[in-house]
Amino acid sequence: MPELPEVETVRRTLNTLIPGKQIERVTVSLPRIIQRPDDPEQFALELQGHTFETVERRGKFLRFILDGLVMVSHLRMEGRYGVYRSDEPVEKHTHVIFHFTDGTELRYKDVRQFGTMHLFATGEELQSKPLVQLGLEPLDPQFTDEQFISVISKRRTMIKPVLLNQAYVVGIGNIYVDEALFRAGIHPETIASDLSREQLIRLHEAIVSTLSDAVAAGGSSIKSYVNGQGEMGMFQHSLRIYGRKAEPCQECGTLIEKTVVGGRGTHYCPVCQPLPARQKAMG
Ligand SMILES: [Zn+2]
Repeated sequence: MPELPEVETVRRTLNTLIPGKQIERVTVSLPRIIQRPDDPEQFALELQGHTFETVERRGKFLRFILDGLVMVSHLRMEGRYGVYRSDEPVEKHTHVIFHFTDGTELRYKDVRQFGTMHLFATGEELQSKPLVQLGLEPLDPQFTDEQFISVISKRRTMIKPVLLNQAYVVGIGNIYVDEALFRAGIHPETIASDLSREQLIRLHEAIVSTLSDAVAAGGSSIKSYVNGQGEMGMFQHSLRIYGRKAEPCQECGTLIEKTVVGGRGTHYCPVCQPLPARQKAMG
């Protein structure tokens, strides 16, 4: 599943391609991708004649800003956007096509069919599902360590599931949570409320640096993920812990272990990321 850096890469790519393009008509061939309004024909009708201005992001959601409208879209497992000339053959699993007045098209392809699109009047989207329940935005300049500490430090559950919960901090998925915890030297099963202020500050810094580095590298290409223009991200080569079970830790040489935390496959170095003594004693 694409995580924040991959969605950010898609956003940046789309921003070089679609601003200024005016929609002539929209074709929806898989109605359930369209979550709002209820009627996909209404969705298509409302978009007619509108122009894409820019693409923003909130967590793992893309926010397509048009004149007077906002389309919120989640790629889920395998969703892809691409821009094509209208005479190029339409690939299988293409479910929504935005036909532009200049003879090009924005096509949405989704083999797994889990992706979503919601259409709103401008501003309405921030007060409505799915964006309204989202937590802190980790690449926002306003994401300070104090803000992070106030949201995380009272949770009496393991830190990894806390970080994966989109109601606290958005956009960190299974790959980057393992990387950030490794960079911060924190065991993924540490109870969040047991983390010291110093550890939380280090973790905040690790989250920001991990995600920023991944964005700079164009995201990671795990499985079939590619960005908006079909290019592979490069950050998978920089992953230091994720997917490296039984390889030596790059910091200390200890073999990396894999376990399951909160139902998710989890990689960690038992030496660089020790479990706190109190938890170890509890077994
Ligand atoms: Zn280590």
